[in-house]
Amino acid sequence: MPHDLPKAYDPTDLEDHWAEYWVRENLFAQPTPDPTSASALPAGEPFTILLPPPNVTGRLHMGHMLNQTEMDILTRWRRMSGRRALWLPGTDHAGIATQMMVERQLTEEGTSRQQLGREAFVARVWEWKRHYGGAILDQMKRLGASVDWQREYFTMDDNLSVAVREAFVRLHEQGLIYRGAYIVNWCPRCQTAISDLEVVHEEQKGHLWEIRYPVLADDGTETGEFLTVATTRPETMLGDTAVAIHPEDERYLHLHGKRLRLPLVGREIPIVLDEWVSRDFGTGAVKVTPAHDPNDFALGQRHNLPSINVMDETARIIDVRDGAEAGVYQGLDRYVARKRIVADLDAQGLLGAVKDHTNNIGHCDRCKTVVEPRLSTQWFVKIKPLAEKAIAAVKPDADGNKAIRFTPEQYEKTYLNWMENIYDWCISRQLWWGHRIPAWHCAACGKITVARVDPTACSHCGSEEITQETDVLDTWFSSGLLPVSVFGWPGIIPGAPGPGSPRTGPRPGGGDPSHSGTGEGIQDRRDFDSFYPTSLLVTGFDILFFWVARMIMLGCWFSTDVPMPDGSPRPLAESVPFREVYIHALVRDANREKMSKTKGNVIDPIEIVKQYGTDAVRFTLASMASPGTDIAFNVARTEGYRAFANKIWNAARFLFQNVDRAAELGITVDPAALGSMPTAAPNAPLEARWIVAELHATAGKVNQALEAYRYDDAANTIYQFFWGSFCDWYLEIVKLRLDFSETAYKTQTAAALTTLVSVFEAALRLLSPFMPFITEEIWHTLYDGNPPAKSIALTTYPTGNKPLTESSYDPNIFEMQTVQNVVTAFRILRKENGVPDKEFVPGQLNPDPMRGMNAAGAAAHHGDIFRLLAKVSDVRLEPLTYGKVRREANFDIAIEYQATIDVAAERARLRKDIAQYEKIIANAERQLGNEGFLLKAPPHIVEGLKKQRDEAKRLLDQARGDLGVLPPE
Ligand SMILES: [Zn+2]
Ligand SMILES: [Zn+2]
Repeated sequence: MPHDLPKAYDPTDLEDHWAEYWVRENLFAQPTPDPTSASALPAGEPFTILLPPPNVTGRLHMGHMLNQTEMDILTRWRRMSGRRALWLPGTDHAGIATQMMVERQLTEEGTSRQQLGREAFVARVWEWKRHYGGAILDQMKRLGASVDWQREYFTMDDNLSVAVREAFVRLHEQGLIYRGAYIVNWCPRCQTAISDLEVVHEEQKGHLWEIRYPVLADDGTETGEFLTVATTRPETMLGDTAVAIHPEDERYLHLHGKRLRLPLVGREIPIVLDEWVSRDFGTGAVKVTPAHDPNDFALGQRHNLPSINVMDETARIIDVRDGAEAGVYQGLDRYVARKRIVADLDAQGLLGAVKDHTNNIGHCDRCKTVVEPRLSTQWFVKIKPLAEKAIAAVKPDADGNKAIRFTPEQYEKTYLNWMENIYDWCISRQLWWGHRIPAWHCAACGKITVARVDPTACSHCGSEEITQETDVLDTWFSSGLLPVSVFGWPGIIPGAPGPGSPRTGPRPGGGDPSHSGTGEGIQDRRDFDSFYPTSLLVTGFDILFFWVARMIMLGCWFSTDVPMPDGSPRPLAESVPFREVYIHALVRDANREKMSKTKGNVIDPIEIVKQYGTDAVRFTLASMASPGTDIAFNVARTEGYRAFANKIWNAARFLFQNVDRAAELGITVDPAALGSMPTAAPNAPLEARWIVAELHATAGKVNQALEAYRYDDAANTIYQFFWGSFCDWYLEIVKLRLDFSETAYKTQTAAALTTLVSVFEAALRLLSPFMPFITEEIWHTLYDGNPPAKSIALTTYPTGNKPLTESSYDPNIFEMQTVQNVVTAFRILRKENGVPDKEFVPGQLNPDPMRGMNAAGAAAHHGDIFRLLAKVSDVRLEPLTYGKVRREANFDIAIEYQATIDVAAERARLRKDIAQYEKIIANAERQLGNEGFLLKAPPHIVEGLKKQRDEAKRLLDQARGDLGVLPPE
């Protein structure tokens, strides 16, 4: 049977089907342009967009769903608008998260990564990745994301790893990488340094302990005086190397130049003067532990103090004391040691007051362990030179142009403020999973060799006793390089290694070398020249500094070396990784609360999709998405958009029934009318001229809204067009023209059918980026399985008019609005007067040109519409004489209607009601008169009975009154 669309709309099967089809047919692949082939470059400016790579361990959440819906809408829209769209997917190896995941498995198996050893552990992670990694991309496939799956990457792929190594070596050659002792945020569980951004601060109740440090005389004996310090972490005192006071603190002027004895340890330490010390906090004297506090570290540097590390990487105490008592704290957990130390101080009379104190304590974002500031040797990038470029890329140039534009604009300021106050970037992590730092330590001379190719000897002294650095690089180092590395950098720089070069780590088995670089010695710049800079980045605020800022720094830094296709130097505006950044909002729950596992209000997008279909969920998100506004996700809305999809489905079925009936009469739709913007002849019926004008206006508004990231305006405009204009009005009126009788005026029927089908087809294309599945299904059915393209996503997006202003209002739209107003007024008037739905009544219309309207013309021509939609027969244009009148802004209407009722039946009904009310009243009063009942019954029951009686009395009076006015029997 032609145009076979199932009766009921069921998204599950059809979405599964098309999601699989899009991937299988590779519909959204964007091949490397081949200038040598006959077809040359594909037409259209590129539109390139990089998926923020989810963690390989990730599962799709509502934030992803919003992010991907927004990207997919824009990519589909740009693609249909003639751009060479490339949306590039991939996953991040996520150092800490993935290593944790596998470590947990090992713990369950009763072993550990240390027992396995580094090589076996890394092999095990690859194994894990092959089995479980990237499930999130399968979820994306099911949700119909129109990405180029042939270009899918993983940040540890060979070609991307080559880029990471090249970037590190280059920065090192440029003198921008150094090793340094530094206080880092240390996670004792993950046993690695973590960045400031990965530390979550939480207020916790704790204590402030006062400790009395004996003051020493010049000969080293105790004077009997004490200097009292206050601390929240007494266990760190083992590593104290000074006590600091403010130079102008009058309480301590006499102690300038004195030394103290460190309790429990016995070491002599100086009193140092530093203006950083706050005289108002605690006692105004601060113990200084440079190895375990960032402020103390800075203070230690100023005063040239030693740093003594008293904790190992698991935050257990390394007892640093000499003498008889050495070793009593050795190996104790930091909190156990704290108790012991406080007790020992107390026993020696060196503990002062202990006060309650609320602390802001840093926790590891991954595992929630309390972070321990710890001195360690790390690798850093001297970031200022990179940051300067990254600032210039966002600030307006002399002509006021910005190389990168932020939406919403406010993020530009946030970004610049961060970038202008940036610290050197600690890029080393003490993990096993990740890109191992390409540096070798020499046992003979102690120097470091950094190399592109694994060295066999020290480059300084030639010794073969070299071992590779055990640290790996921060995950953001590799993801920050993605915009250049996915398009073949560094293979595109003369002399730089391609993916054929020696690798670090086992072979990942991913990545398609034909897409990124072509191996050593050969330069393939086609991808880079076509797709870099990318057009747009859509992402959440949470990774603005982690990722967005780093891509800008690394992108601008490394692409500068890649000349423009014509050989000229690359200007800053062409070296940025993307031209625009769109920061999307948060998805909150229906009460605008942030979703969190602890609150239990997390909405799983996959569950909602199962229930309502992907299209409805996408449309829900789109209908609320606009720059800077959080989304309060309400399932009731999704239910509404499921109904919207259903409405479109039913419209399609109605349309197909008519197309098939017409075909039996030999009336067919002109195929030339499909696939472009429909038109209507000047002499076509009003509804045809109007719906075509509405479609043009709608398409214009939608395009303009999408340009401005107003997904909400775009979605709501389409919704109003489809539901309101097309289904509620046009489909009703067009029934007047679809005459399939023997005597039909076939040209008229054919014209109406062509407008109907062509407007519907264009509207499907308009809706397609928002609801790709249902539109694909109906579109294929429309073409009876023989469509002009493989997918509606490969057709042309309706462009329409620029949105209309009041003065350029389309006369067809104006005329139709008048007709709609008259219909609506008649409908209201009928309802007010209780006219039964099926009954036709004669009507009058008195337009008032003085009140700014000439409805006469409209009404004269559209009596058939009034008759059909308002059941008003024979509308007369005349001064009102009929009984029931309604006055509108610029016309008056009236209908002739006399309600007729069956007096006998009405009387019988009222008498029955009266008997019923009397019974209720009698029953209630009997109970309320029963003292036994009143004693036993709860008060709310008694109250309820009284209420019931009073209500029945009121209704009884009303019914008696109604009966009284009926004509006598
Ligand atoms: Zn941790
Ligand atoms: Zn050496």
